[in-house]
Amino acid sequence: MNRKYFFCVILLLLSSCEKKESVKNYIYIIGDGMGPQQLGLLWSYAKYAASSPYSDKETWSEKMIKESRMTLSLTNAYHVLTTDSAASATQMASGKKTRPEIVGADYQGDSVESILEIAKSKGLKTGLVSDTRMTHATPAGFGAHEVHRKMENEIASDLIENKIDVLFSGGIRHWIPKDIKKERNHFEELKVKTFNRFKIKSKRKDNRNLLKEAEEVGYQVALSKSDLKKIKMTPVLGLFSFGSMPSGIAEERHENPNIPRLEELTKKALSLLENKNGFFLMVEAGQIDYASHNNDAGALLHEMLKFDQVVQTVYSWAKEREDTVVIITADHETGGFGMSYSSFEIPKPIPLEGNIFKGKDYQPRFQFGKMDQLDLMAKQTKTLEEIYQSWVNLKKKDQTVSYLKKIIFESTGLLLKNEELKSILKREKNNYFYEGHPTLGGKTYPQVNHLKEYYVYGEETFKNLMGHALAKYQGVTWATGTHTHTPVPLIVWGPSRIKDQFKSISHTTVWGKQMIEILKNQMSGS
Ligand code: MG
Ligand code: ZN
Repeated sequence: MNRKYFFCVILLLLSSCEKKESVKNYIYIIGDGMGPQQLGLLWSYAKYAASSPYSDKETWSEKMIKESRMTLSLTNAYHVLTTDSAASATQMASGKKTRPEIVGADYQGDSVESILEIAKSKGLKTGLVSDTRMTHATPAGFGAHEVHRKMENEIASDLIENKIDVLFSGGIRHWIPKDIKKERNHFEELKVKTFNRFKIKSKRKDNRNLLKEAEEVGYQVALSKSDLKKIKMTPVLGLFSFGSMPSGIAEERHENPNIPRLEELTKKALSLLENKNGFFLMVEAGQIDYASHNNDAGALLHEMLKFDQVVQTVYSWAKEREDTVVIITADHETGGFGMSYSSFEIPKPIPLEGNIFKGKDYQPRFQFGKMDQLDLMAKQTKTLEEIYQSWVNLKKKDQTVSYLKKIIFESTGLLLKNEELKSILKREKNNYFYEGHPTLGGKTYPQVNHLKEYYVYGEETFKNLMGHALAKYQGVTWATGTHTHTPVPLIVWGPSRIKDQFKSISHTTVWGKQMIEILKNQMSGS
């Protein structure tokens, strides 16, 4: 046998032996607001903090990246430089550009088909899981079509009409009738069973009972961890809180043992969706964005740990499989977050024994960040959101510097100085007053001293001011109270022939479209 012929035979054998199972399962893990900086916080904490829960100092996201293709993706919406979550989810789900705050339609306002809907039409099962609200912008971008993200009541009915097999999140307030007391029969039982744990108040403007409507079209409804255990098949609608689900920090306090955690929802979704035709599942770690909007570094770290637990769950499920593609990415970065060096607490000189120092002192000119600042963030027991809520619930006369000092100290371990506390309480005229605007319609707001245009949430800026007062003690910095254009990581895990298609710097619409093509091609067997 000549050499040329021999190699040809070997090549033929190799190519025919290669397992070419078609890909049938598509899992998206979206960290809302998770730029490279947020991932950097998680990875630094895992490696350098004394309190790191990772015995090998390596996070699950890192383990998964080792087996993935990783690039970066731009996220901006149509004809603008940044995006919100609705446009970003719509763009990655449909591969089409759209304008900020639109859900499931392109920039001209025409409805677009999402990868979830395409998967559904090809006979795959579908699922949306989020730790925010079921009707929040990110899940909505995959399963609803509305002119604005704030139309959460309408988004709820879209999700049901779309017959999405697994719907797990919070935000029951958009699913229950306005006049909930009239609906005795249905709600008395639910109330006893589960509602006692959270407020029963509707945000609907009508008396539609979407839980009942969902049941009428075949859904099983789950409202607690114990309900969830009993669910053995799809479709299922699981709504586990009044508004958004508990934050990572709140979960650590174990106050609500009957509210499932995000990774538990993910695990359940995977077990319910697994079937011979395959499935599309989107899981959102949505509160990375909340923490980053509030410039709350401690809460952010806890959200990143929650995200990593989702990655662990998905990785454990998928790792031996050839028929699954996992995308890990973000819809945008939030907060312009960073760990940074500063003039605060410059270290004292220390002698170094090295050959060019020979006992001379080493002293950097600045403080480059201390490892124990990571432990400090991990120890935070209340989010800045919770501190803010307890503040606004006080009577005016009780809103004092000493109260604020106490609650911040109890929640973060940091004792702020009186002048730092007073700077949180200062107010100023709102230079960006906009009549009737939900967050810019007030005459005065908390005083921001730097780049105030980027703090757009009115009274809630109080949280950012707390975050800024804590920042130097935590070794962190924040650029904004909104989103940035920072390119986000795009991590693609799966068989080489799929993941190797993601080599270039991308955009949400570009990789979104690529994934739709992959799904279509795999289904047609090519
Ligand atoms: Mg979101
Ligand atoms: Zn956001």
